[in-house]
Amino acid sequence: MRQLGKTFAAAMSPIAMAMAAASIAAATPPAAAQSSNETLVQGYIRFMAYHEAGHMLMNQIQGINAKTAATDAIESAADDFATLLLIPDPSDENGVNEMMGAALAWLKAGPRYSEDDPHAPPLARAEQIICHIYGSDPQSFAGLAEVVQPEWECEQKYADMLDGLVAEYANHTDRTGVQIDVSYAAPTQGMERAAQFLRDSTILEDLAYDVGQDFKLIRPTKLMAMNCKAMGGDSGTFHYDSFSGAKPEQNYDRIVICYELIDMWLKVDFDADQ
Ligand SMILES: [Zn+2]
Repeated sequence: MRQLGKTFAAAMSPIAMAMAAASIAAATPPAAAQSSNETLVQGYIRFMAYHEAGHMLMNQIQGINAKTAATDAIESAADDFATLLLIPDPSDENGVNEMMGAALAWLKAGPRYSEDDPHAPPLARAEQIICHIYGSDPQSFAGLAEVVQPEWECEQKYADMLDGLVAEYANHTDRTGVQIDVSYAAPTQGMERAAQFLRDSTILEDLAYDVGQDFKLIRPTKLMAMNCKAMGGDSGTFHYDSFSGAKPEQNYDRIVICYELIDMWLKVDFDADQ
């Protein structure tokens, strides 16, 4: 794992450097992404938010959830959604670094993994992300060839996945989908920095735009940032719920983004040796 972490770091810098050289006219990085540690955390948080959007899309559009399919398959598919939606343009240095951040964060999360976790082991999640990025454009992401194994068939997997997403989930009408509502609860218990980081990152607004625009959402969907522990939530991890009731306002889907998880990752030093 340590070796893979180093390889990622090594693979990341040539890409970043080549991109910087190639795209002088690239947009100024957002204020929140100026230090590399923050870019990596931002990438991980973005990935996790889009992972929950994957659960929402599967359930809302195809009726796929823990009652209808195996949880490990669903979790893996949610990661696929996140990666597909976030595949960076090779010239987008911040986008590339954010996705590397998501992969690196999984390597960092390794020691916390428990056997009961329905998600794939962290190393597998990191490899899945890297495989899809590489598969999206093997030439531009040639630096990742060191990590990616030929038998993973990343290019084919990526192409198949994209086809499936477009065929089964994309909005094929010329009407926009149901708009996603974004809200931020006032942070408490020392979560102010995490809440500000989330706002500055525009991750939730980006997600609402990406998903509301391109997918055929059929239910009102709320994207809510909050202190999860204060509201009785257990571990402060992002989660997706679908609510049904007699009144129209009781019927909606919700993705909860917890300040606690952001706060935890903001305290991780990605530069420190693993
Ligand atoms: Zn999940």
